[in-house]
Amino acid sequence: MRVRFWGTRGSIATPGPGTTHFGGNTSCVELTTSDGDLLIFDCGTGAHRLAAKLIAEGKSQIKANILLGHTHWDHIQGFPFFSPAFVKGNSAAIYGPEGSHGSLHDVLSGQMEFTYFPVELSQLPAAITYHDLAEGIHAIGSARVATQFINHPALTLGYRVESNGKAVVYLVDHEPFSDELWRAGAEPGRIESILHDGDRRHAQFMVDADLVIHDAQYTPEEYGPKKSWGHSTYAYAVQLASAAGVRHLVLTHHDPDHDDHFIADIERRARDLARDLGKGLDVSCAYEGCELVIERRTSVRPFETADPFQASLAQSHLHILVVDDEAEALKAVARALGEGSYVVRTAPSGPDALRMISEQIPDLVVLDYTIAGMDGFEVTRAIRANSETKDVPVVMLTALTDEPSIRKGFEAGVTDYVTKPFSLPQLLARVHACLARTKRR
Ligand SMILES: [Zn+2]
Ligand SMILES: [Zn+2]
Repeated sequence: MRVRFWGTRGSIATPGPGTTHFGGNTSCVELTTSDGDLLIFDCGTGAHRLAAKLIAEGKSQIKANILLGHTHWDHIQGFPFFSPAFVKGNSAAIYGPEGSHGSLHDVLSGQMEFTYFPVELSQLPAAITYHDLAEGIHAIGSARVATQFINHPALTLGYRVESNGKAVVYLVDHEPFSDELWRAGAEPGRIESILHDGDRRHAQFMVDADLVIHDAQYTPEEYGPKKSWGHSTYAYAVQLASAAGVRHLVLTHHDPDHDDHFIADIERRARDLARDLGKGLDVSCAYEGCELVIERRTSVRPFETADPFQASLAQSHLHILVVDDEAEALKAVARALGEGSYVVRTAPSGPDALRMISEQIPDLVVLDYTIAGMDGFEVTRAIRANSETKDVPVVMLTALTDEPSIRKGFEAGVTDYVTKPFSLPQLLARVHACLARTKRR
């Protein structure tokens, strides 16, 4: 496999004298398998120059597979400038997460409405197909592609591409599930020692990969005020990749406020950290034009999803019970989930919640930790103790982010945590991701 970076910037394109080395175009990475399949991770402004190169190669037919992590601007803005789509006979298969607001087709045609762009999506002469993906294993060209939801305010997929015994993993935009990475008392640096189920799954998804391309927008010093914006620090990416036995980690989605000097410093600090961890992880920061050839070594074992995925959530009208004793918060959360096409019921207290659950078992419970009568852990334990409801996922809303509280929560049976303050789209993305990987009764 061969990988080339065309866009390495996050959030907004940042051309100028300060970014000539690492580049100013937003996310776009080209991957070519040894069988000649063309896969493109994200379609930010970097896609414009990739498109020009593909045209210049003079192939009679261009078959592009475009894998979108999500549809924020910096990941799709290059699509209207992807010139192979303007040529009859070419094809573009576009993949992205299902369950966002509107289908992939609707979102992409929205950014090409006449108000914003002179050519409509439906007018493009190439054959364009749309594939809304859930978590699972998919065949794309001759490659085997695993997908897994990552942690971002919009529903976002990570991709693991396996071809001829090699694995490349793309994880952009993502932020840590938990502030604390390691369980107290456990040996740090091992996947089993990771505290939060979400971070552990994230590390498992990159296990033994030849190359991991990971969001690293911030330094640890910058992260605090930018928590819940959906991006990682280089330190988080290095620690997880190291624990997962990754060979080469490339940090990307550079912050628009970071110039070449700043990013070079991040690269130096990330390499120092990787060296201290002692697992032989090679780290670099992505720059535009950077090309990597993944050479053969012993084959990587194919990734297997830990949990079976759900084919489609969009039409299933799942029931969610929201439990909170603060009326305003309860209303806001219920409204946001209702917009996500879920059927929502609400309960103002723990005892009310348990009574309602016994009357009708919901597909998922969103539970505030601090509620009158019984706290969130007690309600969770009661749900787990009943054989009828023991598998219902519970998403806990909490301001408690210390290691003992989180551990206590997982021991009580909490499926996922959303830490306060959170945004409603972020909660919706987490609920959807949680449902997508839960076995339906
Ligand atoms: Zn982004
Ligand atoms: Zn984003």
